[in-house]
Amino acid sequence: MKLKIGAHKYKLRFTDIRAQLDSNDCGDVDKEKGFVNIDETLMKSEQVASIIHEVFHIVNSELNHELLESLSQQWTAFLMDNKLLKVEKLLKEEG
Ligand SMILES: [Zn+2]
Repeated sequence: MKLKIGAHKYKLRFTDIRAQLDSNDCGDVDKEKGFVNIDETLMKSEQVASIIHEVFHIVNSELNHELLESLSQQWTAFLMDNKLLKVEKLLKEEG
């Protein structure tokens, strides 16, 4: 799916990104081509947390990484627990 994040339009892409990264990250942002890449092998709740994690990277490049990850996990739980997120729509690549 397409995500408008700040002033930018990104496309979500589910791929084996963990195999391509040196770090233990579960996703990354391709600011040149406009993709948010999320690892396709993660369970759905971790894919959601990874999307939110990458969104935080885009909107706040200065945030401490441990804090960013903690906020990502907390917001994922809050949004999912209270059914405030259309998870199936979010995890679709198209549309
Ligand atoms: Zn990160």
